[in-house]
Amino acid sequence: MLCTTTREGMECAFMTENGCSYNGGTCHPAVEACEGCARAVQVGDLFYCTTYPDPASKWRYGICNFATHVKDQSEVKEVKLNPIKASKRAAGRR
Ligand code: SF4
Repeated sequence: MLCTTTREGMECAFMTENGCSYNGGTCHPAVEACEGCARAVQVGDLFYCTTYPDPASKWRYGICNFATHVKDQSEVKEVKLNPIKASKRAAGRR
């Protein structure tokens, strides 16, 4: 449904006939880490995410999984693998 409040005229999954259903009745501005993401749109002086209403929470525990401007996320996951488990996994393939 089209937003009639913060991102007026833009499609939003949280908009209802009774107004914005997101926590607090509005989405939150994008954070610094969102800079360069194709999903960020400018509204007035601020940027908002077209996919998620609270961008800060998408970065709280790592890279936002919707981000379009971050390098291959599989590389990041690879680094986080436990080396002992990776070694056992590789040995199992032999
Ligand atoms: S998709 Fe993620 S990185 Fe992109 S604007 Fe939204 S919250 Fe920020």
